[in-house]
Amino acid sequence: MTANLFFVDLLRMAAWLAILVVIFVPLEHWFAVQPHRALRKQVGIDVCYYFINSLLPSLILSVPAGLLGWAALHLLPGGLLNFISAQPFWVKAILGLLAGETGYYWGHRWSHQIPFLWRFHAVHHSAEEMDFLVNTRAHPLDLVFSRFCGLIPMCALGLAGPTSALNATGVPVVVMLIGTTWSFFVHANLRWSFGPLEWLVSTPKFHHWHHTRTGAINRNYSSTFPWLDRLFGTHHLPQEWPEAYGIEESFPATILDQLCFPFAPEEAPATDKASALPEQQ
Ligand SMILES: [Zn+2]
Ligand SMILES: [Zn+2]
Repeated sequence: MTANLFFVDLLRMAAWLAILVVIFVPLEHWFAVQPHRALRKQVGIDVCYYFINSLLPSLILSVPAGLLGWAALHLLPGGLLNFISAQPFWVKAILGLLAGETGYYWGHRWSHQIPFLWRFHAVHHSAEEMDFLVNTRAHPLDLVFSRFCGLIPMCALGLAGPTSALNATGVPVVVMLIGTTWSFFVHANLRWSFGPLEWLVSTPKFHHWHHTRTGAINRNYSSTFPWLDRLFGTHHLPQEWPEAYGIEESFPATILDQLCFPFAPEEAPATDKASALPEQQ
């Protein structure tokens, strides 16, 4: 029975991947920032990450997320939960997006500033070419941490966890669907911009600058709302695109070594990327 469910999950993931390929491969061909091979370096490894990360982080996260939701239900004032519960669904969905994105912003920023967390997050930044599939290139425990950080403020507002009995059942689903779809988009090799709306929602250029190998590193932590980076002093969006992507550290080539990388003895002191953050104006 469990094996059957696992097989169904795999098929579902394969179908979603096929849909993403059908959407993004032609778009990245027609509107590319840089001409780019469809079968770029490490694309096979990123397909493996796609399947691992579609299943494993949610499984691991289910326990701490359940505990978090339980704690919120028992510790938060009933008046607050009832007030939020009484709001229309669209208000709760917007609140959930704002809360989840703010939690994600700080979790992501800590992943760059704290050397231990950076060793997990470095897997994502090791990509040297950008396309939609780079979104899936991440250590599963890095995703568990960043999603957990996004869940904390959502649970604190009664918008996720068992408190979803308060008529907010669909909020985490909406937040996850919007966040996941947008994450594929902002990694894509697409030169689209939204003109005056670029202050409101993130674009590929905004997130590509987060992946820059040189220059203004440690910027643009938000996945969906760039104004959060403006608010917290980490926004960077010049006219031009980054010249190169990736990290300075040497990084293993095989997926097994990459997954073990955070636990391997350090050859040199871990790069504190935050130390390179210029003074904020
Ligand atoms: Zn990052
Ligand atoms: Zn990224």
